[in-house]
Amino acid sequence: MTLGIYLHIPFCFQKCNYCDFYSLGCSRSVPQEYIDALRREIARWKQKESWRRPATVYFGGGTPSLLNARQLEALLDALEPLPDAEITLEANPGTADAAKLRDFRTAGANRLSVGVQSASDASLHRLGRIHTAAESRTMLQNAAAAGFENISGDVMLALPEYSVKELYDTLELLCGCGVKHISSYLLKIEPGTPFGKSPPQGLPDEDAAADFYLACVEECAARGFAQYEISNFALPGYESRHNLCYWNCQDYLGIGPAAHSCIGSRRFCYPADTAAFIAGAQPVPDGECTAEDFILLQLRLAKGLSLAELQGRWGVSFSAAQQAFLRRCEKNGLAALDGDRIRLTPRGLLVQNSILCNLV
Ligand code: SF4
Repeated sequence: MTLGIYLHIPFCFQKCNYCDFYSLGCSRSVPQEYIDALRREIARWKQKESWRRPATVYFGGGTPSLLNARQLEALLDALEPLPDAEITLEANPGTADAAKLRDFRTAGANRLSVGVQSASDASLHRLGRIHTAAESRTMLQNAAAAGFENISGDVMLALPEYSVKELYDTLELLCGCGVKHISSYLLKIEPGTPFGKSPPQGLPDEDAAADFYLACVEECAARGFAQYEISNFALPGYESRHNLCYWNCQDYLGIGPAAHSCIGSRRFCYPADTAAFIAGAQPVPDGECTAEDFILLQLRLAKGLSLAELQGRWGVSFSAAQQAFLRRCEKNGLAALDGDRIRLTPRGLLVQNSILCNLV
């Protein structure tokens, strides 16, 4: 079985107003002692029987583009990924110029995931992003010029005062710069964030947010991007191999504070504390991956859930009541049952949580 590695880079230029990811704001670079701690943990994992050379490596954050190319290279040297590995670096506009992107490419990154979010400067400002839409365009163009052929762009939907025009402008910005993959997320107001403490004016209601999501699905399809997961769209052959590893319940190892792992169905995570990680904190158990998790993750994917695989991997099959519920979902246009497979339709994906609650 393949192994995917996630390295968490918990440093950001400043905290965005909506963000509840674990990261430290006010950072302009990544301290060398943090790189040393990641290398220490990589060396420790390489001693274990479960270690294989990774098929995918994902530098996530935080803001991994605050790394310098020497640090990226040192981490990849330690990891020794397979020759054809997918090596993704998350990058935020305003944190890497053309030369740095060239150096990242030379150091071994072959996929860039750019936090574009919106083509509206007013929205970016409200979100607390440090960049403008023009800077996003520049980063995408510089990345292509640096030799990144596989570029993804992040889009946030249902922002305050949002409109279909803002959505279309954002998709046009991405497609005009030749991205091959789009990730789109509805803005969620998380407790403890600046938006959680003081929600912004002009937030779309749930129905309007759902319409923006469906408009995004439709527009991505019109532009040739197939929806392969609830929030992800790709031109043929450009699906994220690393993220598919999560959704297909393959082994992944996350290293860094707050990073989660699942190896052989056993989950564990490092404490969300950078100083403790540098000082040597070890991951703690975080439960087991179950058949329910598998159902949940597979139903996020456009290919859906295979009943034979559910039976083969987990020894589980749906009861008569569950099958009747799924048939009702199909009748209501929320699911499609096709022999061995169950898929949720775009409308079903929107209400995925309540379908899963009823199902499992
Ligand atoms: S750049 Fe990303 S990780 Fe950092 S604060 Fe903003 S949303 Fe959070």
